[in-house]
Amino acid sequence: MYDRIGLIKKEHSKHFGSSPEAITRGPGRVDLMGSHTDYNDGFVLPVAVNVDVMAGGRLRDDNKIGVYSANFKKSVEFSLDNIEFDTVNTWSNYVRGVIHFLKEAGVKLRGADMVIHGNVPIGSGLSSSAAIEMATGYLMQTLNGFEMSAPDLALIGQKAENKFVGVNTGIMDQFISRLGKKDHALFLDCRTLEYGYVPLDTSQVKIVVCDTMKRRGLVDSEYDLRRSQCEEGARLFAQWYPNVKALRDVTSEMYDEHKADLPEVVSKRVAHVVGENERVLRSRDVLQAGDFVEFGRLMNASHDSARDLYEVSCAELEAMVEVTRAAPGSLAGRMAGAGFGGCTVSLVKDETVEQFLEVVRVEYHKKTQLMPSLYVCTAEDGTGVVERL
Ligand code: ADP
Ligand code: MG
Repeated sequence: MYDRIGLIKKEHSKHFGSSPEAITRGPGRVDLMGSHTDYNDGFVLPVAVNVDVMAGGRLRDDNKIGVYSANFKKSVEFSLDNIEFDTVNTWSNYVRGVIHFLKEAGVKLRGADMVIHGNVPIGSGLSSSAAIEMATGYLMQTLNGFEMSAPDLALIGQKAENKFVGVNTGIMDQFISRLGKKDHALFLDCRTLEYGYVPLDTSQVKIVVCDTMKRRGLVDSEYDLRRSQCEEGARLFAQWYPNVKALRDVTSEMYDEHKADLPEVVSKRVAHVVGENERVLRSRDVLQAGDFVEFGRLMNASHDSARDLYEVSCAELEAMVEVTRAAPGSLAGRMAGAGFGGCTVSLVKDETVEQFLEVVRVEYHKKTQLMPSLYVCTAEDGTGVVERL
């Protein structure tokens, strides 16, 4: 492990001639269960993991924000009075968006300089975007000293991503990045934002994230298409059941009653979301009971449904799922995040993790000629301060 805090301090001094007053971290996340349920007002079960974006910063005397990305080796500066979309340094829009919506929420902000450094793989499904949003938001909160609840900061991050960056995502990523808890998964009701923690002792089983190295090419257009198909499904069900606002409100009995009345594609999408919501609820209960084997079965069922009914898998994800399910000590393999590439997530017995990694490396390469990146993850706390100077 190299010294990222030291790096942030060094870059801060180099680019801004000062040292940070505070360094925050926003973790990446992986969804153990809940595939495409979040924007259907449904349930999810993610964990915050041990990769993160760190943000170190210091207030300045004017109303400007200076940001240096130690990953991209680029800096930007903008005025708090006029926060515009940056078409050149697009990474800065996550920072700009969060600050814009903090201001819109009525928070008084002073200018600041900040250095950002992340080790969340970008665009792989671990949500580096939520990590940078939460690290930024919490840095602003720490430096300026304003009160804001954790769910509210998550909502600011989601707004930044939806309305400033322009990516249509649900609340899960920011919520878990902000509110994760060490050695626990988080159960979240994406409609009410009610949440609870479920123990997940990562000394017994490890969460292994396997990056297929296939970038998620189609994800934006296909994601939007799935969302509109779900909305259509919800609209149709609302004709038969006026209380249906989203697919969250459709039970499997209601689906069985009306599946023949739905267009074929919509029917598949609805079947996935309805089944997945029920699986998430069950998975919470079996995890609570410490039954990792049954939990693994539910993870596998989640993947199969996302592949067959929601149709968001791809050849590389299938190869990785096949390999990870068969590897030593594996309890499950399923796609993480939105699909179409990116990562899978497995639960692996702690004592066989090394063999698991070795087999996955060899077998996945054999199948695809790609060299995967593998991350052995632990469940970590959500966003917080790592150093206050
Ligand atoms: P994901 O969230 O799955 O990793 P996204 O496309 O949603 O992928 O978000 C990735 C984007 O977030 C990057 O392209 C970049 O703009 C921004 N980002 C993530 N990490 C950093 C970082 N360390 N420094 C600057 N920008 C970052
Ligand atoms: Mg993202």
